[in-house]
Amino acid sequence: MVIDLEGLMQGSQEQLTLDCMLDFSNETLNGRVPFTTPVHVTGEIRNKAGIVTLEAVAAFTFTFDCDRCASRTEKKMRVPLTHTLLQELSNDKDWEEYIVVPDLRLNLADLALEDIFLSLPSKLLCKDDCKGLCPQCGANLNEASCNCKKEVDPRLEALLSMLDD
Ligand SMILES: [Zn+2]
Ligand SMILES: [Zn+2]
Repeated sequence: MVIDLEGLMQGSQEQLTLDCMLDFSNETLNGRVPFTTPVHVTGEIRNKAGIVTLEAVAAFTFTFDCDRCASRTEKKMRVPLTHTLLQELSNDKDWEEYIVVPDLRLNLADLALEDIFLSLPSKLLCKDDCKGLCPQCGANLNEASCNCKKEVDPRLEALLSMLDD
């Protein structure tokens, strides 16, 4: 999905509406295909007083294995894609904030994919309070509690036995 920015950058076009489906079914994350359905990008690119900005949202279902309990999880996500687009970078501008498009052709798929991966949390969990797996028997503690003895700090254990007495 490549967008021709020539009219927008040169000012002959004021805005361009985006509404497209991106296919990321070839992408993998930790050996799994996270995008099982197309990613829907909606928004616009606008030239306002010579400054060209992209403001869009990528909406998609993300499939992953929970980092704590390994359950396969599907989550609906919305990631904002907000950038200022420049044909060339002038010295006073911070590289990070801008997307430089020297040939005036923006690869929306590459940009969306990068923004999506950057927006992911460092731990992907099935739910915020996922209890994970028992380190001893491997039971999924979200589904059932197991009978393993909880490991108790020996100092705490000594204190508890004193209280028992
Ligand atoms: Zn989990
Ligand atoms: Zn257990």
